[in-house]
Amino acid sequence: MNAKKIVLDEKDLPKQWYNIQADLPEPLDPPYNTREGRPAQPEDLEVIFPKEIVKQEMSSERYIDIPEPVLEAYKIWRPSPLVRASNLEKFLDTPAKIYFKNEGVSPSGSHKSNSAIAQAFYNKEAGVKRIATETGAGQWGSALAMACEMFAIECVIYMVKVSYEQKPYRKSLMQVYGAQVFSSPSNQTETGRKVLTEDPDNQGSLGIAISEAIEDVLNHKNAKYSLGSVLNHVAMHQTVIGLEAKKQLEIAGDYPDIVIACLGGGSNFSGTAFPFIMDKLQGKKPNLRAIAAEPSACPKLSKGVLAYDFGDTSGFTPALKMYTLGHTFMPGGIHAGGLRYHGASPLVSALVKHNFVEPVTVKQREVFEAAITFTRTEGILPAPESAHAIRVAIKEALKAKEEGKSKTILFNLSGHGHFDLSAYDNYLSGKMVDYEYPADKVCEALTHLPKI
Ligand SMILES: *Cc1c(COP(=O)(O)O)cnc(C)c1O
Repeated sequence: MNAKKIVLDEKDLPKQWYNIQADLPEPLDPPYNTREGRPAQPEDLEVIFPKEIVKQEMSSERYIDIPEPVLEAYKIWRPSPLVRASNLEKFLDTPAKIYFKNEGVSPSGSHKSNSAIAQAFYNKEAGVKRIATETGAGQWGSALAMACEMFAIECVIYMVKVSYEQKPYRKSLMQVYGAQVFSSPSNQTETGRKVLTEDPDNQGSLGIAISEAIEDVLNHKNAKYSLGSVLNHVAMHQTVIGLEAKKQLEIAGDYPDIVIACLGGGSNFSGTAFPFIMDKLQGKKPNLRAIAAEPSACPKLSKGVLAYDFGDTSGFTPALKMYTLGHTFMPGGIHAGGLRYHGASPLVSALVKHNFVEPVTVKQREVFEAAITFTRTEGILPAPESAHAIRVAIKEALKAKEEGKSKTILFNLSGHGHFDLSAYDNYLSGKMVDYEYPADKVCEALTHLPKI
């Protein structure tokens, strides 16, 4: 079998999501309610999420059925193609086989739609009329805006100011889908007004935008909140990526030695890698390597601490046990906006702790160099976030060449970069800078972890 693109029939779409909580070496530490000083109960989470989502968040059932309306919506773009990057292989002159899963084919341009559709569906079922959320680079906002439109729910989006200004067409896309979009920090919420009073030029962060969205939910009737990454249910919805990829590789007669994805909050990494890590957890593939590619400007898995921390800047969310750089940490303005988050999914964090996942950091300019190599060989312009995975895939392919070993590498192309051309301009004109690891800022931020 030597196909360039491995497609699946619609009938071979996964009908269930994979929940890795069933296979962890030890159960996750539960979220913590810091106001009450006790582990969070489902009722605490049901203030901002519908019941079914909370049930999934805490479930340890291995497989959970994908509802029929969600399967129907997935059919617009799923199954996504698995592509053999044969031109890239030739260019690198490597014995390694490189495959990528192309999640950029979704209507919103990234993997985020996989969870957005599911979350909109469960909110609709629960009678929710308004969903508020945050968006960094704009991909989650676009995905949720589309999903809310499909299920007739009002959608309100707080978009991190630096992205709102760098990527105005992402905002336009959300508006075309019918969403209301505010630059965050905004004057819509107490949190936003407070930040603006102290620092009128604040560029915003995902942490601030999450605080604003949660405040919005608490101030509106029939409103719920929706998160595009980090949480267990989001990671689970994304497993359609890896489940499809597994089937496609089986058709190609292959199985990966190395699975790679970039990591912001952890959702596309989880979605791609968990169905393979399952085999490792169950002892079937002891040598599988799963690599999470992080920006050196925001390296929570590599340089953070494993501790309870808030998901947002103001401390509205329950505290989660995760690798974190501190919820008040403000990363440098790298172009991969989707990777500028202080914490990592508790599931991925637990797997890092037990050595089932390797974190690797890469710098911004080498990432764009890899992105351009990829565009010129495979023709697809990657999102800057996804290009972190490409950088690492290229490094591994070159290592295989040095060692004279044939390796099978799978990476996730989490999205396309059609809205990121100003970032590419910045690179091509030679203006792009690398951000070093901001050790002092992290040390400071870590002094603000909640005491639990
Ligand atoms: C949001 C986003 C990411 C980072 O988020 P994860 O939850 O870590 O996947 C990566 N790539 C793209 C294209 C994104 O939109």
